[in-house]
Amino acid sequence: MSRARRLRGQPVAATVREAVRGRIADLDTPPTLATVMMSDDASDERFVALKHDACAEVGIDVVDRRLAPDAPASRLHRTLDELASDSTVDAVFVQVPLPDHVALNEVRRRLDPETDVDCFHPTNLGRLVAGNPRYVPATPAAVGRILAAYDVPVAGREVVVVGRSEAIGKPLANHLLRRGPGGDATVTVCHSRTPDLGRATRRADVLVTACGVPELVTEEMLSPGVVVIDVSANRRTVEGETTVVGDVDHESAAAVAAAITPVPGGIGPVTLAMLTQNVVRAAERRVGT
Ligand code: NAP
Repeated sequence: MSRARRLRGQPVAATVREAVRGRIADLDTPPTLATVMMSDDASDERFVALKHDACAEVGIDVVDRRLAPDAPASRLHRTLDELASDSTVDAVFVQVPLPDHVALNEVRRRLDPETDVDCFHPTNLGRLVAGNPRYVPATPAAVGRILAAYDVPVAGREVVVVGRSEAIGKPLANHLLRRGPGGDATVTVCHSRTPDLGRATRRADVLVTACGVPELVTEEMLSPGVVVIDVSANRRTVEGETTVVGDVDHESAAAVAAAITPVPGGIGPVTLAMLTQNVVRAAERRVGT
């Protein structure tokens, strides 16, 4: 029986977008986001298109840089160098994953920390860990935002994060650990080498899954009343039909959880809105407001 409250992302995203539009109106020129993609994968194309649509919706200009997946890494470096020295570009977002022949750490270092709105540069990641972020990456920021919007407290509570990537799990854990409003959680981070995932997830007051494994988390792995934030949108094709599912088996989890973010329609729209918020922040930093 389903009883969990659905924490829908759209109304939260709409509130963020409204605030972003107001901040853009206070700027002399619209902010500009440059997206860089080195892939011909349809999912990457879709993710970049969603970012462009989110920018258009609030009045952010977009520079769209695409490189063939077999282009030399030096071409990507040159593109990033050009964007870093282009004073009309406020923010740069590199779509990952990058091809195997491109060293991610080199790409991270090439970004200008001031325009690196998704916290790729080691300096920005370090500042986040130190509790003094220049930007909070869009997905971790979206998790915090949706929890706040639905009045889910995390201070002093057990938050379990499934996934330890540099893009989501690690920044999210640090974001929830920070001192002050929206932080002060007791955070456990799990990953593929965690021996008994259910033992860890059953401790959670708030469970955040970002591991990309369809319906890994089932009812037995949850304690009653848990709030579940399912970050993943995994595409699954069965008998020619493709659906999008999260890391959580929503049907069984809904009988145990107090609340759960739907997939799709949960964290995804809020992430896009938080990206636009970071772009505006970058533009405001550039003009000194
Ligand atoms: P990633 O780099 O592939 O990291 C996945 C993490 O999950 C890794 O830490 C991995 O552990 C862990 N993991 C994998 N299998 C596991 C298992 N069976 N049990 C426990 N942990 C396991 O992925 P990512 O970039 O962080 O993205 C995570 C998910 O978020 C993906 O599904 C992605 O599509 C989604 N995403 C959503 C949004 C949004 O806005 N909603 C935005 C970006 C990404 P190891 O470290 O041990 O390998």
